[in-house]
Amino acid sequence: MEEKDILVHACCGPCSTASIERLLEDGWNPVLYFSNSNIYPLEEVQRRYDALEKVARTYSLQVIHEHYNHERWLESVKGHEGEREGETRCSLCFAFNLKEASLKAEELGFRHFTTTLTVSRFKNSKRIFSVGEQFPGFEQIDFKKKGGFEKSVRLSKELGLYRQHYCGCEFSMHK
Ligand code: SF4
Repeated sequence: MEEKDILVHACCGPCSTASIERLLEDGWNPVLYFSNSNIYPLEEVQRRYDALEKVARTYSLQVIHEHYNHERWLESVKGHEGEREGETRCSLCFAFNLKEASLKAEELGFRHFTTTLTVSRFKNSKRIFSVGEQFPGFEQIDFKKKGGFEKSVRLSKELGLYRQHYCGCEFSMHK
């Protein structure tokens, strides 16, 4: 691995667009990692993965697709199902996905990893950072800065990407 190689936990295609552009501008060599066992149902996982693949092709990047295990994710947020978005369930959810990314980075020999989750204006970047810093190699990059969120909306439209209307899990639907 090169010093600037970075494994990027990618939550979906739209959030990845602006994140990839920022990483490339900053001299990183990103490899995308789709590991999102929080997403429900399975058809939605496929829709988001298809959009991410399109993004990966656009930027000529590799994308690694992790095994989906929603049951294990449900176990990790047990007792917090009824909470509103942004509460403890979401921190547990970030921890679940970022731990997967950290383990994958270690397995593949990456010295750095990060997540596209910070693009969203609906997600608190500081909270994501406080979860991420528990894991070795985590890079705190706030992708919503420098107009990142607006850029992701524009690029998604240009590429004709599927854009979801809920965060991901069944508890975030219809809210
Ligand atoms: S609302 Fe989003 S961040 Fe929160 S637990 Fe559900 S999928 Fe995870």
